[in-house]
Amino acid sequence: MNLLGKTAVVTGGSRGIGKATVLKLASLGANIAIADIGDPSLAEETKKEVEALGVKAQCYSLNVTDFEACEETVKKIIEDFGGIDILVNNAGITRDALVLSMKEQDFDAVISVNLKGTFNMIKHTYAHFMRKRSGRIINIASVVGLSGNAGQANYSASKAGVVGLTKSVAQELAARGVTCNAVAPGYIITPMTEVLSDKIKDDITNAIPMKKRGQPEDVANAIAFLASEEASYITGEVIRVDGGMAM
Ligand code: NDP
Repeated sequence: MNLLGKTAVVTGGSRGIGKATVLKLASLGANIAIADIGDPSLAEETKKEVEALGVKAQCYSLNVTDFEACEETVKKIIEDFGGIDILVNNAGITRDALVLSMKEQDFDAVISVNLKGTFNMIKHTYAHFMRKRSGRIINIASVVGLSGNAGQANYSASKAGVVGLTKSVAQELAARGVTCNAVAPGYIITPMTEVLSDKIKDDITNAIPMKKRGQPEDVANAIAFLASEEASYITGEVIRVDGGMAM
């Protein structure tokens, strides 16, 4: 498997699953555009690690909820790199609460980043991929988008939306040589999940058939496969990376 000469855009690429993804794609030869809203010094650190693998890397400060900013960033990346081959929609947030106490703005914020942000980036790369008659779109969903989860109505709805978006885009672009797939992680050790209490961590881990939490690299490996030539006949698929959690 190699991605030599390809350009990959990874949203939320400076830490967690996004960081593991940029390092994996770079290790296979892809040049990397990191588009993240977070701490610029973290993105720069990740960029240096990517460059040490011998590929080109660039950071773009981007809030994926901003439709126009996504358009500008995609344009800039195409200018800087000469094109885009792989889009990984990884940026995501949680605002957990039972519906009884969930604030309207927490529902909106999660839908806005996880679902609308994914749409925004697809919307602005769509014509580029169509013209090239090639491209790989990989959206990060979640097993709770397949099963639901008490306390995560906003997050589960956003990720179920990502699955529907993925399958629709896959159907629209299939005849153009562009694939669109999703990866649905289970419980992965990242800054997003490190904030959970020890009790919740233990409860979730006990509910996983493999009895262990996943590593960001487990998810990155599935993303790299979907980005590769070897996955060229796979589209509209959702690959769970969850130690059997949502079987
Ligand atoms: P992290 O919180 O560790 O990383 C998410 C990254 O996305 C951060 O760099 C964050 O920046 C960035 N981000 C957040 N909002 C925006 C935005 N509006 N625009 C651009 N970038 C943004 O999360 P994970 O690595 O754990 O998660 C990555 C993806 O995987 C998410 O989509 C998540 O929902 C999904 N996932 C994770 C699971 C897990 O167990 N960890 C399980 C299932 C799915 P900042 O730091 O400033 O917020």
